[in-house]
Amino acid sequence: MVKSLISKKPFMPGPKEKKLKYCSTCGNLATVEAHFDVGNGVTMIEKYCGACAEKLDSRS
Ligand SMILES: [Zn+2]
Repeated sequence: MVKSLISKKPFMPGPKEKKLKYCSTCGNLATVEAHFDVGNGVTMIEKYCGACAEKLDSRS
């Protein structure tokens, strides 16, 4: 499956959200929400910590 990065936004759990989110890659606390286009008009959202979010951009 090909994923292409569309955008990244700072991620903060909302006041209603009791559970914290964790990075999909390393399991640290997530601070960034990344939106990917996975084809067929489908957008997938994954959460990452700051360090892993940095690496998303360096991928070609
Ligand atoms: Zn991480």
